[in-house]
Amino acid sequence: MSFKIGMMKVSAVGAALGLCLVWAGPAGAGEGDAARVAESIHWLGHDAVRIDAEEGVIYIDPWKLGDRPKKADLVLITHDHGDHCSPEDVETVMQEGTEIVTVAAAERKLQGLPVRTVAPGDAVTVRGVPVEAVPAYNVNKFRSPGVPYHPKEAGYVGFVITVGGVRVYHAGDTDVIPAMKGIQADIALVPVSGTYVMTVEEAVEAVEIIRPRLAVPMHVGRGIGSLEDAERFRELSPVPVRVLPME
Ligand SMILES: [Zn+2]
Repeated sequence: MSFKIGMMKVSAVGAALGLCLVWAGPAGAGEGDAARVAESIHWLGHDAVRIDAEEGVIYIDPWKLGDRPKKADLVLITHDHGDHCSPEDVETVMQEGTEIVTVAAAERKLQGLPVRTVAPGDAVTVRGVPVEAVPAYNVNKFRSPGVPYHPKEAGYVGFVITVGGVRVYHAGDTDVIPAMKGIQADIALVPVSGTYVMTVEEAVEAVEIIRPRLAVPMHVGRGIGSLEDAERFRELSPVPVRVLPME
């Protein structure tokens, strides 16, 4: 028992050191691995993606999935807004053993489902997939004077997951925030629509900070933002961009 406790202490110290020492930049996966994982990412419009990873089928913010979507092993939901946390869509991808990771605000909408809640800064491994919850909030997008659409205090998140040895960042609904300096990602999915989230120019700033091998624009294509924003992001980005076809 004492051995186990000792190991836990060592790993906790390691994790703390890791947090202190991280800096922005490509996370270090080989180019081939990053390219292979990029091929497994399916953009389903807006912020909804499905990753057909070697660890299993992972959805992030499933919304407007249509008929008979592929079943999920893991579902990640960044926050409780209806275009990200859609109980009907989550129901359609559930199968035996599917696990859901989300924030407390969204858990309330998913009563009766197997939900694990996280807060910004948490790291968990679910279904063999390391999942880090990172902050996501507005600094300059307001619902009314002084009231952001996504307040920092709400505890909304983005995710950095590791699949096939590649770190994939899904930013959630956010502006450019200081925490991005500490995000290491090989592939970064970033919102570009403006209004509720980063504008194209701000998304460019975000990838300048994070420096992924590949950036993928999102938060467009389902009535919010336009596909032209995605193209403009591709033109302006300092890192390679892939505009995925909307499935
Ligand atoms: Zn939102």
